[in-house]
Amino acid sequence: MHENLARPWDEFDAYLFDIDGTLIHCTDAVHYFAFCDVLSSTAGHALNLDGVTAHGNTDIGILRDAFAHAGVAEDIWRPQLPQLLERMCGFVDEKRDELCTTVLPQVKEVLLHLRERGAKLGVATGNLERIGKRKLQTAGLIQMFDFGGWSDSFESREDVFRAALNRAHSLTSPEAAILVIGDTPADVKAAKRNQLPIMAVATGIYSFEELSGCDPNVCVRSFQDLLPVV
Ligand SMILES: [Mg+2]
Repeated sequence: MHENLARPWDEFDAYLFDIDGTLIHCTDAVHYFAFCDVLSSTAGHALNLDGVTAHGNTDIGILRDAFAHAGVAEDIWRPQLPQLLERMCGFVDEKRDELCTTVLPQVKEVLLHLRERGAKLGVATGNLERIGKRKLQTAGLIQMFDFGGWSDSFESREDVFRAALNRAHSLTSPEAAILVIGDTPADVKAAKRNQLPIMAVATGIYSFEELSGCDPNVCVRSFQDLLPVV
């Protein structure tokens, strides 16, 4: 755990947690097929996310990249964006019983530990709000969180984090110390652009070495490094 934090990891006033790869893994493909459904219906032929980077992206960013990859012009899909997002959320709502999540090691324990210390807990995620909330409900984690920064109005992760940061300050104080926790280089970059300290956790697709190379303030292999199983 190479560490460069101004205070111990559990003494911040508020936390911004990424969802996928940080708190949970989704073992279903409902969210994936929601993208395929919207992409295909807009293009008029079958499209999927092959060749598109989803990890660390936002839902709107994934649609943008997939349309670009398939050669669908922006002036075709951009004006329909609100309807496309609504359709994606509706797709996931309809298939909510198929959602299947695994909570990552010591996640519940870390969240409980921070709550007991009086911290405000939020999510800062590339997920659309309705979809991210469904995942957290399925995982049994939704009640742990006080607020959320979602991607409904934002294409860049940096902007999602800024909105979540503002919400965190409004629930605490303008001077509050806030820590971001995420599993991708994109999380590290978005946190730094908001002048926020970040803990990277190597429970997603990126290794400890890859994440350490992005120079987060602290890097752990999993939350078990923070709170060992007793
Ligand atoms: Mg993630």
